[in-house]
Amino acid sequence: MTRTFHFDIAIVGGGLAGSLAALALADSGFSCALIDATDPATMRGAGFDGRTSAISYASARVFRRLGLWEAICGAGGEPDAEPIRDILVTDGRANSRFDRGGASPFFLHFDSRELGEDQPLGFIVENRRLRDVMFDAVDTAPGVTMVAPARRVATRFDRGAAVMRLDNGRDIVASLIIAADGRSSPLRAEAKIKTHHWGCGQTGIVATVAHERPHRGVAQEFFLPSGPFAILPMTQNRSSIVWTEREEAAPAYMALDDAAFLGALRQRFGAHLGELRLAGPRWSYPFAFTLAQRYAAPRLALIGDAARAVHPIAGQGFNLGVKDIAALADVLREGRDVGLDIGSLTVLQEYQRWRRFDSMALALGMDFLNRLFSNDLGPLRLARDLGMSAVGRVGPLRNFLMREAGADMGSLPSLMMAEG
Ligand SMILES: Cc1cc2nc3c(=O)[nH]c(=O)nc-3n(C[C@H](O)[C@H](O)[C@H](O)COP(=O)(O)OP(=O)(O)OC[C@H]3O[C@@H](n4cnc5c(N)ncnc54)[C@H](O)[C@@H]3O)c2cc1C
Repeated sequence: MTRTFHFDIAIVGGGLAGSLAALALADSGFSCALIDATDPATMRGAGFDGRTSAISYASARVFRRLGLWEAICGAGGEPDAEPIRDILVTDGRANSRFDRGGASPFFLHFDSRELGEDQPLGFIVENRRLRDVMFDAVDTAPGVTMVAPARRVATRFDRGAAVMRLDNGRDIVASLIIAADGRSSPLRAEAKIKTHHWGCGQTGIVATVAHERPHRGVAQEFFLPSGPFAILPMTQNRSSIVWTEREEAAPAYMALDDAAFLGALRQRFGAHLGELRLAGPRWSYPFAFTLAQRYAAPRLALIGDAARAVHPIAGQGFNLGVKDIAALADVLREGRDVGLDIGSLTVLQEYQRWRRFDSMALALGMDFLNRLFSNDLGPLRLARDLGMSAVGRVGPLRNFLMREAGADMGSLPSLMMAEG
């Protein structure tokens, strides 16, 4: 017999975006079901996700306001969020500034101290940590019910509510369904929301390394012909590597034994942090762009990678999702407070207006950057090097880019606004 459960909002997808959405919306007084096809115990496991996320300082405010930041930082224990103090961008060669002096003229250096506030450019946090903290909070939040493992198998959008059938024999009835079901979002497809999708022929190889010398909070990105190679500072003298490789070459690197893999990694990493050692397994992720043409339909809103999935060249994918969630929380709260149906298009179009253009512009900008830098053509290389050197000389422009990377620009939802 099918059992039916009623909520204000049903969120399909308990990834980073869905979990945060459940907590933010419950904090705004909505009852939420959080549904995922995978068992939470598996998602918390060491073998599930080896990535880190660069969390912008505006996104960190959302975690702070929801009371999650202390747990992410491991109050009283080992800190788990590493502040990013500097970002160095170099075209095609290993960094020489911090170990050998003599900066390349084509260096771009973003220095958090230039913002004039005691504020890092962002934080590097392990996805495993984010997931653990959010799942712990979901387990105790009065307004959230986790329904997992359970796969959504069918959905009906009626005038008064949406009805969702799960493969565990339950029906969920809600005023609004949020699709947080990832870049290939089955819900988006069923709602016949079209996407712009294009591959970039690249795979991300992800690994954690421990190194001899301290990174001093410096994140580095080298633009190599196969794509960006990022070194992201982690706690305990470790760094997370996101090595973009041509998709046809990546499997061979993934198949190398540890010693050979470390050798190939060292050639790209350089010697500035001394001896390197692998501090965990390797992972690989195909890169592609997907942009939904609409973020809303009657009783349906898209967030996170279901709304748009971007290249991690600037570490913005999840941050864009955080802004979706904060904006949606504002729009739904305001709609409810004036007596509107939160699943109506009147309310949801407000969310779409706020988020779609903003994130499309950013996604296209990242695609452009990736194309511009992922090649070794002489004239293009000259143009981008001159561009980098010009940006590097203009303080206000650097300042603008730092604030943009911190997601502290444009119209900010209330959860993201600076305190005071
Ligand atoms: C190598 C790499 C590095 C990155 N670095 C950064 C970074 O530094 N900073 C940053 O901001 N972003 C970064 N990103 C992007 C970021 O990781 C993603 O944007 C984010 O993880 C997307 O989360 P999501 O919850 O939207 O989707 P997902 O994590 O894909 O979650 C979707 C969930 O939906 C569930 N689901 C799907 N279908 C169903 C169904 N029918 N029923 C029930 N459940 C279902 C799935 O089980 C899954 O758990 C990076 C990405 C990559 C690949």
